[in-house]
Amino acid sequence: MNREEQRADLVARDKRSVWHPYTPMLQYRESGRPLVIDSASGSRLFDLDGRSIIDGNASWWTSLLGHNHPRLVERLRVQSQKLCHASLAGITHQPAVEFAEALLRVSPPGMTQAFFSDNGSTAVEAALKLSLQYWTQTTNTRKKRRFLSLEHAFHGETMGATALCGVEAFVAPFDAVGLSVSRLPSPAEDLSAAIDALDEELASRGDEIAALVVEPLIQGAGGMLIYDPAYLREARRLCSQHNVLLVVDEVFTGYGRTGTFWACDHAQISPDILCTAKGLSGGILPFAATLVSEKVFEAFLGTPDRAFYYGHTYCGNPLGASVAAEVLSIYEDENIVAGTAERSTLISQAFQRLSGLSGVENARSLGMCGAVNLRGGKGYLERGGWRVFEKALDGGVYVRPLGNVVYVTPPLNIPISDLSELLFVVEKSVGEVALEAQTW
Ligand SMILES: *Cc1c(COP(=O)(O)O)cnc(C)c1O
Repeated sequence: MNREEQRADLVARDKRSVWHPYTPMLQYRESGRPLVIDSASGSRLFDLDGRSIIDGNASWWTSLLGHNHPRLVERLRVQSQKLCHASLAGITHQPAVEFAEALLRVSPPGMTQAFFSDNGSTAVEAALKLSLQYWTQTTNTRKKRRFLSLEHAFHGETMGATALCGVEAFVAPFDAVGLSVSRLPSPAEDLSAAIDALDEELASRGDEIAALVVEPLIQGAGGMLIYDPAYLREARRLCSQHNVLLVVDEVFTGYGRTGTFWACDHAQISPDILCTAKGLSGGILPFAATLVSEKVFEAFLGTPDRAFYYGHTYCGNPLGASVAAEVLSIYEDENIVAGTAERSTLISQAFQRLSGLSGVENARSLGMCGAVNLRGGKGYLERGGWRVFEKALDGGVYVRPLGNVVYVTPPLNIPISDLSELLFVVEKSVGEVALEAQTW
């Protein structure tokens, strides 16, 4: 088979048996040519058409050090020859210990324990269960059973994490089962209204609330909505005042995406619980951690019935822990977070230029994330983002949109030349689609 035949064969078989996430399958099956990725290296994807494509979203926000970083691949190889799986239930292994220590060293002050799981959703799910059990064991009541989250929030796919989401399309099919959650106004829309609403909710119903869960500074999957660190400082103050746990979901924002290691660092706050995944294992393996403060941890000590009876089969597995420890070494050796300053400036300048176009609104950026909303004639909401996607792909750039939000979240160490090319193609594509949309 030549490459074109190989491609056609794969796509035909795919369409018969693979159910794709977040994908309307009827349209997918009818629509022809999906991208078929064959290999990747650094900030580039290589497809079966032989194209080299810049990965504008770091592989669903995971490959923060680029694809296949040689040190990560080597660490995986070495660890896989020694130990691939060992349960962490009452036993331990070197990679888990080393990674927990390294992660806690770079974490906000006061985080003292790392609880491992497999992915961002389970990191959040663990945080929810920890919060509920924490209050049961510290108050000896079941009064504090509700959660607060934000409009436009995204916290993952498990039932608990889904219940926190503030994006209609993700929640609607599963509504009314599961957790009791109140959604509060997002500070990305009106900062002082959001602070007032939080203040009021905590003052009137704080005694029923287990935790406030937020994505710090950028609400990612809900549309790359950026908000002011002042909200986090107020949230910290109000949660402490009203005896409510503050859970920050750094699954997307952590590991340097916003220009500091954690988004929380911009506000100089420490949460009670911090969830991290995605870039934590560099896009190599699913791996996640839920970090807690000593105050939370201590509530689980004492008689055995106070223990946290929770743990995924692969939680803290040696392969993931080993790779995740190497990720942190690379961050240190290659000054990854400091290196984002220069790149962030380029992103911010490109998105500022876009804000001048008539078909766009709300151009924004923070650290290694830039986003813009497309607006205009009818159908723009459904078509605009995907038109930019198609045009950008023709120009050698992969930027999967979130509805009508076009954004870039490249690897943090993307070579400057690739970043310039990425931004050039995105600007050009958005500009062309803005013109085209006037006729829709
Ligand atoms: C992606 C994401 C999750 C879910 O992580 P998975 O690894 O996909 O389960 C949770 N929270 C935030 C903020 C995310 O961006």
